Amino acid sequence: MKRSTRISSIEIFKADLELKEPFRTSLAEISCANNIIVRVYLQDGLYGTGEARPNPPVTGETQGSAFIAGKRLSSCLIGKDALDIENRMAELDRHLTKNSALKSAFDIALYDLLGKTADLPLYAVLGGSRRSFWTDNTVSIGLPEVMARKACEYKEQGFKALKVKLGGIPAVDIARIHEIRKMVGIDIPIRIDANQGWNFKQALKILTELEQMNIDYCEQPLVHWDHANMRRLKERVSIPIMADESLFGPQDAFKLAADGCCDLFNIKLAKSGGIHNGLKINAIGEGAGIACMAGCMTETRLALTAAAHLVSARPNIMFCDLDGHTSMKIDPVSGGAEYKAGEILLPVSPGHGADFDADFLDTCESIVVK
Ligand code: MG
Repeated sequence: MKRSTRISSIEIFKADLELKEPFRTSLAEISCANNIIVRVYLQDGLYGTGEARPNPPVTGETQGSAFIAGKRLSSCLIGKDALDIENRMAELDRHLTKNSALKSAFDIALYDLLGKTADLPLYAVLGGSRRSFWTDNTVSIGLPEVMARKACEYKEQGFKALKVKLGGIPAVDIARIHEIRKMVGIDIPIRIDANQGWNFKQALKILTELEQMNIDYCEQPLVHWDHANMRRLKERVSIPIMADESLFGPQDAFKLAADGCCDLFNIKLAKSGGIHNGLKINAIGEGAGIACMAGCMTETRLALTAAAHLVSARPNIMFCDLDGHTSMKIDPVSGGAEYKAGEILLPVSPGHGADFDADFLDTCESIVVK
Protein backbone atom coordinates (compact mmCIF):
# COMPACT_ATOMS: atom_id res chain seq x y z
CA MET A 1 0.00 0.00 0.00
CA LYS A 2 1.31 3.43 -0.90
CA ARG A 3 2.13 5.49 2.20
CA SER A 4 0.32 8.78 2.80
CA THR A 5 2.86 11.58 2.90
CA ARG A 6 0.50 14.10 4.54
CA ILE A 7 1.84 15.79 7.68
CA SER A 8 -0.22 14.75 10.71
CA SER A 9 1.59 16.50 13.56
CA ILE A 10 4.71 18.49 14.39
CA GLU A 11 6.62 18.52 17.64
CA ILE A 12 8.96 21.38 18.60
CA PHE A 13 11.56 21.16 21.36
CA LYS A 14 13.81 23.67 23.13
CA ALA A 15 17.21 21.99 23.42
CA ASP A 16 19.83 23.55 25.72
CA LEU A 17 23.33 22.23 25.13
CA GLU A 18 26.02 23.33 27.54
CA LEU A 19 29.49 23.92 26.17
CA LYS A 20 32.72 22.59 27.65
CA GLU A 21 34.04 26.16 27.75
CA PRO A 22 32.71 29.54 26.54
CA PHE A 23 32.86 30.02 22.76
CA ARG A 24 33.81 33.56 21.74
CA THR A 25 33.66 35.43 18.46
CA SER A 26 33.92 39.16 17.81
CA LEU A 27 30.09 39.20 17.84
CA ALA A 28 29.20 37.28 20.99
CA GLU A 29 30.18 34.81 23.69
CA ILE A 30 28.06 31.78 24.55
CA SER A 31 28.39 29.06 27.16
CA CYS A 32 25.23 27.18 26.14
CA ALA A 33 23.71 26.58 22.70
CA ASN A 34 19.97 27.21 22.94
CA ASN A 35 18.72 25.26 19.96
CA ILE A 36 15.40 24.28 18.40
CA ILE A 37 14.42 20.78 17.32
CA VAL A 38 11.54 20.11 14.93
CA ARG A 39 10.00 16.69 14.37
CA VAL A 40 7.51 16.28 11.51
CA TYR A 41 5.23 13.20 11.65
CA LEU A 42 3.27 11.43 8.94
CA GLN A 43 0.00 9.65 9.75
CA ASP A 44 1.66 6.24 10.07
CA GLY A 45 4.16 7.52 12.65
CA LEU A 46 7.16 7.91 10.33
CA TYR A 47 8.96 11.12 11.23
CA GLY A 48 11.78 13.39 10.15
CA THR A 49 13.90 15.42 12.56
CA GLY A 50 15.58 18.78 12.10
CA GLU A 51 17.58 21.09 14.32
CA ALA A 52 19.09 24.56 14.25
CA ARG A 53 20.58 27.17 16.51
CA PRO A 54 18.79 30.52 16.39
CA ASN A 55 21.75 32.92 16.57
CA PRO A 56 20.44 36.33 17.76
CA PRO A 57 23.17 38.63 16.34
CA VAL A 58 23.20 36.79 13.00
CA THR A 59 19.70 35.49 12.25
CA GLY A 60 17.72 37.82 14.52
CA GLU A 61 16.07 34.90 16.29
CA THR A 62 16.20 33.56 19.84
CA GLN A 63 15.22 30.10 21.02
CA GLY A 64 12.10 31.65 22.58
CA SER A 65 11.05 33.50 19.44
CA ALA A 66 11.68 30.40 17.32
CA PHE A 67 9.61 28.24 19.67
CA ILE A 68 6.60 30.59 19.33
CA ALA A 69 7.08 31.13 15.59
CA GLY A 70 7.53 27.36 15.14
CA LYS A 71 4.09 26.73 16.58
CA ARG A 72 2.60 29.21 14.12
CA LEU A 73 4.48 27.78 11.12
CA SER A 74 3.54 24.21 12.09
CA SER A 75 -0.15 24.98 11.85
CA CYS A 76 0.21 25.97 8.19
CA LEU A 77 1.91 22.64 7.35
CA ILE A 78 -0.55 20.20 8.95
CA GLY A 79 -2.41 18.11 6.37
CA LYS A 80 -0.03 19.05 3.54
CA ASP A 81 2.32 16.82 1.52
CA ALA A 82 5.64 16.55 3.39
CA LEU A 83 7.57 15.64 0.23
CA ASP A 84 6.59 18.75 -1.75
CA ILE A 85 9.41 20.57 0.01
CA GLU A 86 9.74 23.57 -2.33
CA ASN A 87 6.09 24.48 -1.84
CA ARG A 88 6.13 23.81 1.89
CA MET A 89 9.15 26.09 2.39
CA ALA A 90 7.63 28.76 0.11
CA GLU A 91 4.50 28.69 2.29
CA LEU A 92 6.61 29.20 5.40
CA ASP A 93 8.31 32.18 3.70
CA ARG A 94 4.94 33.70 2.78
CA HIS A 95 3.67 33.18 6.30
CA LEU A 96 6.70 34.64 8.10
CA THR A 97 9.70 36.47 6.69
CA LYS A 98 13.33 35.76 7.81
CA ASN A 99 13.56 33.30 10.77
CA SER A 100 16.06 31.29 8.74
CA ALA A 101 17.32 29.06 11.56
CA LEU A 102 13.82 27.95 12.52
CA LYS A 103 12.97 27.32 8.86
CA SER A 104 16.12 25.23 8.43
CA ALA A 105 14.98 22.95 11.27
CA PHE A 106 11.70 22.38 9.36
CA ASP A 107 13.57 21.90 6.07
CA ILE A 108 15.99 19.33 7.56
CA ALA A 109 13.04 17.39 9.02
CA LEU A 110 11.31 17.35 5.62
CA TYR A 111 14.45 16.17 3.80
CA ASP A 112 14.89 13.48 6.45
CA LEU A 113 11.34 12.31 5.69
CA LEU A 114 12.02 12.44 1.95
CA GLY A 115 15.00 10.11 2.36
CA LYS A 116 13.15 7.77 4.72
CA THR A 117 10.16 7.59 2.35
CA ALA A 118 12.45 6.88 -0.61
CA ASP A 119 14.46 4.44 1.55
CA LEU A 120 17.64 6.22 0.48
CA PRO A 121 20.34 8.16 2.33
CA LEU A 122 19.94 11.90 1.86
CA TYR A 123 23.11 12.30 -0.26
CA ALA A 124 21.59 9.83 -2.76
CA VAL A 125 18.22 11.63 -2.75
CA LEU A 126 20.17 14.81 -3.59
CA GLY A 127 21.79 13.02 -6.54
CA GLY A 128 25.19 12.56 -4.96
CA SER A 129 27.43 9.87 -3.60
CA ARG A 130 28.97 9.03 -0.24
CA ARG A 131 32.40 10.54 -0.03
CA SER A 132 34.59 11.25 2.94
CA PHE A 133 35.81 14.77 3.53
CA TRP A 134 37.45 16.84 6.24
CA THR A 135 36.27 19.58 8.52
CA ASP A 136 38.48 22.12 10.21
CA ASN A 137 38.13 22.85 13.92
CA THR A 138 37.60 26.36 15.26
CA VAL A 139 39.74 28.27 17.74
CA SER A 140 37.60 30.88 19.50
CA ILE A 141 38.89 34.40 20.02
CA GLY A 142 41.03 35.05 23.09
CA LEU A 143 44.55 35.75 24.25
CA PRO A 144 47.12 34.94 21.52
CA GLU A 145 48.97 32.36 23.65
CA VAL A 146 45.73 30.63 24.68
CA MET A 147 44.60 30.47 21.03
CA ALA A 148 48.00 29.08 20.02
CA ARG A 149 47.75 26.29 22.61
CA LYS A 150 44.24 25.41 21.39
CA ALA A 151 45.39 25.40 17.74
CA CYS A 152 48.23 23.07 18.67
CA GLU A 153 45.82 20.73 20.47
CA TYR A 154 43.58 20.52 17.37
CA LYS A 155 46.56 19.86 15.11
CA GLU A 156 47.72 17.05 17.42
CA GLN A 157 44.18 15.59 17.34
CA GLY A 158 44.61 15.17 13.56
CA PHE A 159 42.70 18.12 12.10
CA LYS A 160 44.11 19.06 8.71
CA ALA A 161 42.98 22.70 8.80
CA LEU A 162 42.31 25.25 11.54
CA LYS A 163 39.74 27.99 11.64
CA VAL A 164 40.72 30.96 13.75
CA LYS A 165 38.32 33.59 15.05
CA LEU A 166 39.60 37.16 14.76
CA GLY A 167 37.89 40.52 14.42
CA GLY A 168 39.47 42.44 17.29
CA ILE A 169 42.15 45.14 17.48
CA PRO A 170 44.32 44.81 14.34
CA ALA A 171 47.70 44.54 16.15
CA VAL A 172 46.29 41.86 18.46
CA ASP A 173 44.73 39.91 15.56
CA ILE A 174 48.09 39.90 13.74
CA ALA A 175 49.80 38.76 16.97
CA ARG A 176 47.22 35.97 17.31
CA ILE A 177 48.16 34.51 13.92
CA HIS A 178 51.91 34.91 14.51
CA GLU A 179 51.61 33.18 17.89
CA ILE A 180 49.58 30.32 16.38
CA ARG A 181 52.03 29.91 13.49
CA LYS A 182 54.91 29.71 16.00
CA MET A 183 53.18 26.74 17.65
CA VAL A 184 51.71 24.83 14.66
CA GLY A 185 54.26 25.66 11.93
CA ILE A 186 53.44 27.02 8.48
CA ASP A 187 52.11 23.91 6.72
CA ILE A 188 48.66 23.42 8.24
CA PRO A 189 46.19 25.75 6.45
CA ILE A 190 44.49 28.40 8.57
CA ARG A 191 41.11 29.92 7.72
CA ILE A 192 40.37 33.19 9.50
CA ASP A 193 36.97 34.62 10.40
CA ALA A 194 36.56 38.24 11.50
CA ASN A 195 32.77 37.97 12.01
CA GLN A 196 32.33 41.56 10.68
CA GLY A 197 34.83 42.90 13.23
CA TRP A 198 36.96 45.16 11.00
CA ASN A 199 36.44 48.28 8.95
CA PHE A 200 37.90 48.53 5.44
CA LYS A 201 41.25 50.06 6.43
CA GLN A 202 41.78 47.61 9.27
CA ALA A 203 40.92 44.66 7.03
CA LEU A 204 43.26 45.88 4.29
CA LYS A 205 46.15 46.25 6.76
CA ILE A 206 45.60 42.90 8.49
CA LEU A 207 45.07 40.83 5.34
CA THR A 208 48.08 42.42 3.64
CA GLU A 209 50.25 41.57 6.67
CA LEU A 210 48.99 37.99 6.75
CA GLU A 211 49.51 37.25 3.05
CA GLN A 212 52.55 35.00 3.68
CA MET A 213 50.88 33.10 6.54
CA ASN A 214 49.27 30.28 4.51
CA ILE A 215 45.73 31.58 5.00
CA ASP A 216 43.13 29.70 2.91
CA TYR A 217 40.60 32.53 3.08
CA CYS A 218 39.07 35.19 5.30
CA GLU A 219 35.41 34.98 6.28
CA GLN A 220 33.31 38.09 6.59
CA PRO A 221 35.93 40.78 7.29
CA LEU A 222 33.43 43.66 7.17
CA VAL A 223 29.95 44.43 8.44
CA HIS A 224 27.40 42.34 6.55
CA TRP A 225 25.78 45.16 4.56
CA ASP A 226 29.00 46.77 3.26
CA HIS A 227 29.12 45.20 -0.20
CA ALA A 228 31.00 48.12 -1.79
CA ASN A 229 33.98 47.84 0.55
CA MET A 230 33.89 44.06 0.37
CA ARG A 231 34.46 44.35 -3.37
CA ARG A 232 37.27 46.94 -2.91
CA LEU A 233 38.94 44.66 -0.37
CA LYS A 234 38.63 41.58 -2.59
CA GLU A 235 40.35 43.51 -5.39
CA ARG A 236 43.26 44.60 -3.18
CA VAL A 237 44.26 41.52 -1.20
CA SER A 238 45.41 38.10 -2.33
CA ILE A 239 43.71 36.18 0.52
CA PRO A 240 40.31 35.04 -0.84
CA ILE A 241 37.28 36.71 0.76
CA MET A 242 34.36 34.52 1.87
CA ALA A 243 30.86 35.90 2.43
CA ASP A 244 29.18 34.59 5.59
CA GLU A 245 26.88 37.00 7.44
CA SER A 246 26.33 38.84 4.12
CA LEU A 247 24.89 35.66 2.63
CA PHE A 248 21.57 34.23 3.71
CA GLY A 249 19.51 33.11 0.71
CA PRO A 250 19.92 32.69 -3.06
CA GLN A 251 19.07 36.37 -3.66
CA ASP A 252 22.12 37.41 -1.58
CA ALA A 253 24.26 34.86 -3.42
CA PHE A 254 23.21 36.25 -6.79
CA LYS A 255 23.89 39.86 -5.75
CA LEU A 256 27.28 39.07 -4.17
CA ALA A 257 28.34 37.13 -7.28
CA ALA A 258 27.01 39.71 -9.76
CA ASP A 259 28.68 42.58 -7.89
CA GLY A 260 32.01 40.72 -7.56
CA CYS A 261 32.06 41.10 -3.76
CA CYS A 262 33.60 37.79 -2.74
CA ASP A 263 35.61 34.77 -3.88
CA LEU A 264 33.78 32.16 -1.79
CA PHE A 265 30.37 31.47 -0.22
CA ASN A 266 29.74 30.12 3.28
CA ILE A 267 26.50 28.12 3.17
CA LYS A 268 25.01 27.57 6.62
CA LEU A 269 21.64 25.87 6.71
CA ALA A 270 20.61 28.09 9.65
CA LYS A 271 21.12 31.14 7.40
CA SER A 272 19.85 29.78 4.09
CA GLY A 273 16.67 28.38 5.66
CA GLY A 274 17.79 24.82 4.95
CA ILE A 275 18.93 22.43 2.26
CA HIS A 276 16.47 23.60 -0.43
CA ASN A 277 18.14 27.02 -0.50
CA GLY A 278 21.63 25.64 0.18
CA LEU A 279 21.32 23.82 -3.16
CA LYS A 280 20.36 27.06 -4.91
CA ILE A 281 23.21 29.06 -3.36
CA ASN A 282 25.69 26.38 -4.41
CA ALA A 283 24.28 26.37 -7.96
CA ILE A 284 24.64 30.16 -8.20
CA GLY A 285 28.19 29.85 -6.86
CA GLU A 286 29.03 27.12 -9.33
CA GLY A 287 27.70 29.21 -12.22
CA ALA A 288 29.76 32.20 -11.08
CA GLY A 289 32.97 30.24 -10.44
CA ILE A 290 32.57 30.61 -6.68
CA ALA A 291 33.40 27.56 -4.56
CA CYS A 292 31.44 27.05 -1.35
CA MET A 293 32.06 26.01 2.21
CA ALA A 294 29.47 24.33 4.43
CA GLY A 295 29.49 26.06 7.80
CA CYS A 296 27.40 25.67 10.92
CA MET A 297 26.16 27.35 14.05
CA THR A 298 26.80 25.65 17.41
CA GLU A 299 24.61 22.68 16.55
CA THR A 300 24.63 18.98 17.41
CA ARG A 301 25.70 16.20 15.06
CA LEU A 302 22.10 16.05 13.76
CA ALA A 303 22.15 19.44 12.01
CA LEU A 304 25.80 18.88 11.05
CA THR A 305 24.94 15.52 9.49
CA ALA A 306 22.25 17.15 7.35
CA ALA A 307 24.80 19.72 6.14
CA ALA A 308 27.34 16.94 5.53
CA HIS A 309 24.89 15.19 3.17
CA LEU A 310 24.72 18.41 1.15
CA VAL A 311 28.54 18.56 1.03
CA SER A 312 28.73 14.92 -0.04
CA ALA A 313 26.24 15.52 -2.85
CA ARG A 314 27.78 18.72 -4.26
CA PRO A 315 31.50 18.74 -5.19
CA ASN A 316 31.46 22.55 -5.57
CA ILE A 317 31.22 22.64 -1.74
CA MET A 318 34.97 22.30 -1.34
CA PHE A 319 35.46 23.40 2.25
CA CYS A 320 33.86 22.16 5.39
CA ASP A 321 33.49 23.81 8.80
CA LEU A 322 31.10 21.41 10.50
CA ASP A 323 32.56 21.33 13.99
CA GLY A 324 29.82 22.87 16.20
CA HIS A 325 29.24 19.71 18.26
CA THR A 326 32.89 19.38 19.31
CA SER A 327 32.44 22.17 21.87
CA MET A 328 29.42 20.55 23.58
CA LYS A 329 29.52 18.66 26.89
CA ILE A 330 27.22 15.91 25.58
CA ASP A 331 26.42 14.27 22.26
CA PRO A 332 22.66 13.55 22.42
CA VAL A 333 22.55 12.15 18.87
CA SER A 334 22.42 8.51 17.74
CA GLY A 335 23.57 7.54 14.26
CA GLY A 336 24.57 10.38 11.97
CA ALA A 337 27.95 11.39 10.64
CA GLU A 338 31.01 9.77 12.19
CA TYR A 339 33.95 12.01 12.97
CA LYS A 340 37.47 10.61 12.99
CA ALA A 341 39.50 13.66 14.03
CA GLY A 342 38.45 15.92 11.17
CA GLU A 343 37.28 13.25 8.74
CA ILE A 344 33.51 12.99 8.27
CA LEU A 345 31.89 9.75 7.13
CA LEU A 346 28.16 9.66 6.46
CA PRO A 347 25.80 6.84 7.43
CA VAL A 348 24.07 4.80 4.71
CA SER A 349 20.73 4.59 6.53
CA PRO A 350 17.65 6.27 4.97
CA GLY A 351 17.18 10.02 5.45
CA HIS A 352 19.99 11.92 7.12
CA GLY A 353 20.48 8.96 9.43
CA ALA A 354 20.67 10.87 12.72
CA ASP A 355 18.19 11.09 15.58
CA PHE A 356 18.04 12.51 19.09
CA ASP A 357 18.14 10.13 22.04
CA ALA A 358 14.69 9.78 23.67
CA ASP A 359 16.21 10.38 27.12
CA PHE A 360 17.55 13.72 25.96
CA LEU A 361 14.27 14.83 24.35
CA ASP A 362 12.43 13.97 27.59
CA THR A 363 14.43 16.74 29.30
CA CYS A 364 13.42 19.38 26.71
CA GLU A 365 10.38 21.65 26.88
CA SER A 366 8.15 20.79 23.91
CA ILE A 367 4.85 21.45 22.17
CA VAL A 368 2.85 19.34 19.73
CA VAL A 369 0.81 20.90 16.92
CA LYS A 370 -1.86 18.72 15.29
MG1 MG B 1 31.79 32.90 9.83
